[in-house]
Amino acid sequence: MKTDVFISGGGIGGLCLALKLAKNGVDVTVAERLPGPSPIYKGELLQPKSLEIFSDLQVLNQIMDHGHKIENLQLQELNSQYKRLNESILYYTHLPSDTPYAVMIHHEKLKELIRKRAGNFPNFHYLKGTVCERIEGQTAYVKNRETKKESMIESTFIIGAEGRTSVTRDRMGITVEEETYNHHFLTVTFPRPDSLTEGKIISNDHAFLGLFPLPDNQVRSVYLIPAGEFKKLRKEPISTFHQLYINMCPELDGYVQHIESWKPIQLMVPQRYHIDTYTQNHLALLGDAAHTVHPMAGEGMNMAIQDADVLGELLSDMFKQERLSTVNLEWFPKVRRSRVTYQLFISHLSALAYSYPYKTIRWLRGNGVKRMEKDPILHFKQMLNVSGLGVWKETIVDRMVMAGLLPLRDENATSNKREKRFTREEDYPWKVGRGTLQ
Ligand SMILES: Cc1cc2nc3c(=O)[nH]c(=O)nc-3n(C[C@H](O)[C@H](O)[C@H](O)COP(=O)(O)OP(=O)(O)OC[C@H]3O[C@@H](n4cnc5c(N)ncnc54)[C@H](O)[C@@H]3O)c2cc1C
Repeated sequence: MKTDVFISGGGIGGLCLALKLAKNGVDVTVAERLPGPSPIYKGELLQPKSLEIFSDLQVLNQIMDHGHKIENLQLQELNSQYKRLNESILYYTHLPSDTPYAVMIHHEKLKELIRKRAGNFPNFHYLKGTVCERIEGQTAYVKNRETKKESMIESTFIIGAEGRTSVTRDRMGITVEEETYNHHFLTVTFPRPDSLTEGKIISNDHAFLGLFPLPDNQVRSVYLIPAGEFKKLRKEPISTFHQLYINMCPELDGYVQHIESWKPIQLMVPQRYHIDTYTQNHLALLGDAAHTVHPMAGEGMNMAIQDADVLGELLSDMFKQERLSTVNLEWFPKVRRSRVTYQLFISHLSALAYSYPYKTIRWLRGNGVKRMEKDPILHFKQMLNVSGLGVWKETIVDRMVMAGLLPLRDENATSNKREKRFTREEDYPWKVGRGTLQ
């Protein structure tokens, strides 16, 4: 079998890339190891930039039909006895975008919608239950896990989108150095009270609970535990787990009890790595195969989608202009690497802010977030940087305002919001001027 682009891995990154290529007339083949939906929780929060990408891919309406819109994030700080100390609200609606909100959607539903949209194009080929076993030159060797049938797929470009364990990355001879954290997360979905419609992060000096409403009156939750604690915790009756949640958020009483055993509760082990190069000859890596991020800021899935958008546009232009030199692939890391580095950094900072059980840290965090809510520059920077729409880095002055060493600024300070967005030229710089591609 021959194809223009072979994608190893039909996760969110691989599918977004495939849809973009198929829509632009490139022949694309995806091999996905799993035969059907995965029972494992993965990213479910779509940030505004990803929503803009889905709008371009003409799949946003379907996503909105199956998603839950989130316009703000409520950050509550409690004392050690779970009494509320303060609450701050950060708004996506301040962002300069046609989609100034986030959307929660079940991960497998999102993949299904993208696959369905891509299926409208005859040049999209999806091989489910098919594992990419190895790559030699321009050829990928794949095997259907049920029939055990092996086949060869020849292609001009091969993209590794296999997530954390990547055959393509191995083929490129790249190893990753994972950084781990002092904490893990328990994550589980259950029915939610009607009042819980926005994102909520509740913390005190020894606990952290994140609540993100899903459609169908459900909520995805993440609860921070010290690394290694899960084994011990699982020996307790499930009512211990219920009580941890109810302590932090009494409104969950009567809802969290729908979790009747430890079985559906998944352990999430945060990691961080970022490889030095995303491309090698005709090979490229995207999403978790290239970088993985602490989940605190909800960026992992969005980074995979944003990688796919840039790489997809680049490959589409290369085929359209018949400029197939592998040198052109370098535009992909040129655009994405520094953005990813910054997103890894802000996710890491958020992780640090919530992962140490000290009252001083709680106090600094509570005050800092309160000032972030009130200061228009800090507020806007925070939401812009997590949204993926742009990067406006924090300065020493910002940090001093946050710490209360300098006064809050006035509203006019962010009048130039649109200018802080990435432009089309910054997203796809090879389009600027003629003959840029070789
Ligand atoms: C348990 C867990 C919870 C998470 N929760 C969050 C969250 O709350 N928020 C957030 O933003 N991010 C979260 N993430 C991260 C987020 O889901 C990922 O960043 C995102 O899914 C990355 O997309 P991807 O397409 O690069 O990789 P993946 O989603 O991992 O997809 C890779 C796909 O490739 C397939 N594959 C692998 N090897 C092969 C092969 N050799 N041949 C064929 N197919 C192959 C796999 O079956 C899989 O379907 C979580 C991740 C995990 C693991």
